[in-house]
Amino acid sequence: MSAEPASLGWMQAPDHHHVKELDIRHDRAEDGTIKFLARLEDGHDIESVILPLKGRTGRLRRTLCLSSQVGCAMGCTFCETAQMGLVRSLTPKEILLQWSIARYRFDTMIDNIVFMGMGEPLDNVEAVIESIRGLVDQRGPSIASSRIGVSTVGRIDGIRKLSQLVSEPGFGRVRLAVSVNAPNDDIRSSIMPLNRAMPMSDLRDSLVEWTSTHRWPILIEYVLIPGVNDQVEHADQLASWVGDLPSRINLIPYNPRRDSPWPSPSDELVEAFRTALASHGLPVNRRITLGRSLMAACGQLGSEEIRKRKLVNINSR
Ligand code: SF4
Repeated sequence: MSAEPASLGWMQAPDHHHVKELDIRHDRAEDGTIKFLARLEDGHDIESVILPLKGRTGRLRRTLCLSSQVGCAMGCTFCETAQMGLVRSLTPKEILLQWSIARYRFDTMIDNIVFMGMGEPLDNVEAVIESIRGLVDQRGPSIASSRIGVSTVGRIDGIRKLSQLVSEPGFGRVRLAVSVNAPNDDIRSSIMPLNRAMPMSDLRDSLVEWTSTHRWPILIEYVLIPGVNDQVEHADQLASWVGDLPSRINLIPYNPRRDSPWPSPSDELVEAFRTALASHGLPVNRRITLGRSLMAACGQLGSEEIRKRKLVNINSR
């Protein structure tokens, strides 16, 4: 077991007042999504999103999408954040700060946490693990481990480290989501450079390892990009890669980043792909798209403004 989370003392009630003094800007979309941008002590900005989503019972739940890095080193070609490159990783305290802002600045009770904002969480795995310890702590946010999900592009080393945390008492229901986004190595390497070092067969082996230890299914995320990974034969290849892996597939219509060479897919295309996957007996959900008008949807964090700020910092060195 690790020592008490370094951030926890800071998270206790009296210190939340300092959240009110932070430089925070935000936008609200008509669909209820709030995207906020907080300036860190060193002048870098991070973005986070509060998403209102109805659960299976129809009850409105609020999901906080956390950033784990300023920018990202992974270079996925469909992603806005990738345009920034990696500026730096966040500390556990900076990750938890985003929860405090949502809770105390926006007065929002957070039901679910997903590490799906700026950055690859498992590229900053130690800080992410430390922040998860803070999130479940009953003296702090007290969020059930079943309500925390970590989404990775497939950092196999990070998946193994996270698996160690999930083996500890109290963390057994932290969910793993993997952005697969392609039916084969050729397409995956062309849109996700990490795949050249960690190809799909190795990734699958690591997921088999995960599911042999943890009993909750893995979420396979698939961003459907027109003209890239949208053919019925791609659905067939993906289904064969998934095979009997305990998982469900989340089909995500592509949200065009700035200057994107690809449009978003039509409803018909998404439905045809979903049907093709489902014909293999795989459980498939289609994710609803919130926050598109704010550039707050999946793969769209990392604003022009942040990128300009990075340039200012570099030039002033
Ligand atoms: S999709 Fe995720 S891992 Fe890939 S560049 Fe964007 S933030 Fe990084």
